[in-house]
Amino acid sequence: MTSGAKTKPVPNGKVSASADQRERYLRDLRLSLTDRCNLRCQYCMPEDIFGERFRFTQRKDLLTPEQLVLLARTFVELGVEKIRLTGGEPLLRPELIEIIAAIRNVSAELDLALTTNGLQLPPRASALYRAGLDRVNISLDGINADVASKMAGRKINPGQILEAAEAARSAGLGVKLNAVIKKGVNDSEIIPLAHACRERGFVLRFIEYMDVGSVNGWSPSDVVSGKQIRETLNVFSDLTALSPINPSDVARSYRYEDNGLEVGFIESVSRPFCGGCTRARISATGELFTCLFSQSGTPLKPLLSQPERLRAHLAQRWQARDDHYSELRGTSAGSMIRHEEMWRLGG
Ligand code: SAM
Ligand code: SF4
Ligand code: SF4
Repeated sequence: MTSGAKTKPVPNGKVSASADQRERYLRDLRLSLTDRCNLRCQYCMPEDIFGERFRFTQRKDLLTPEQLVLLARTFVELGVEKIRLTGGEPLLRPELIEIIAAIRNVSAELDLALTTNGLQLPPRASALYRAGLDRVNISLDGINADVASKMAGRKINPGQILEAAEAARSAGLGVKLNAVIKKGVNDSEIIPLAHACRERGFVLRFIEYMDVGSVNGWSPSDVVSGKQIRETLNVFSDLTALSPINPSDVARSYRYEDNGLEVGFIESVSRPFCGGCTRARISATGELFTCLFSQSGTPLKPLLSQPERLRAHLAQRWQARDDHYSELRGTSAGSMIRHEEMWRLGG
């Protein structure tokens, strides 16, 4: 399917990047600030592979704050309306507050969010908000400490993560919780997680376990589908599907009928959403990925000293994009693809 070079005006008054080969416009950017992490989630960075001796990217090879801001500005000029800071664990990036403040300076309208495991959030929540962050998504895969720790690959205290979520909300940040469910490991936590979020009024989003990367040993039989999770949640109340606010939203939103609270499902495996995928990703070392399941990225560092060439290159890469891996999963075309790791390309 070829679109020609359709362009669309964007709110900043410029003309956005052309639509890609599947008529999708560039609207979201995930910017990775580091590949390091203080957890070893078994579905992302399994401890047996990423042990004490594993060498992450050296600091000198990470994008600098100035380079990150240049990329943010260029993507906004090309039509990006939402930037999510991620990693690895973005709270491990020492210049995080400075980076957020500088990206906020690029555009007051930008929706600026961060995904975190929450471990280091409470003391920094107010500073993040004051710097211009709008929202945080906090990952937590169980309320039972043993199960959550098993998923996280390190001993964690889920009560403390819930307190971190409360601290972020009190600081003024929008808060959602994310939980990956893996069959036979933490499916027992669906109800406790939902209960904890319902009690506190947090939107919880269940993420289907994905075959991202190549080291987590993913198998289709490990996946608990969004549909199965919704059936489990029926013990609380009926769920009503909500219409998407934005067609590019990754989560399908539902409402508990008894209390009106929203709950979301990211169903990349059972109900792929490639058709509305308007996201690009930049790794902490400055590589562009146009799909979470890309085999490799395009290095952007050589272009960072030439903003006009950078802008033209990004627009051209977006226009050439034809990614739709989740629609190919399980087919012979999908099985040929070896993916980059999520913690490396920015989850
Ligand atoms: N460290 C931060 C965190 O965990 O929130 C940000 C980076 S992490 C890669 C971003 C999100 O990706 C987390 O919500 C995590 O649960 C999710 N994730 C990682 N590996 C996954 C997998 N194989 N399947 C589904 N979600 C995954
Ligand atoms: Fe770290 Fe996030 Fe990956 Fe867990 S999911 S290992 S917290 S980067
Ligand atoms: Fe987007 Fe790739 Fe995921 Fe499809 S598989 S929704 S194109 S990131």
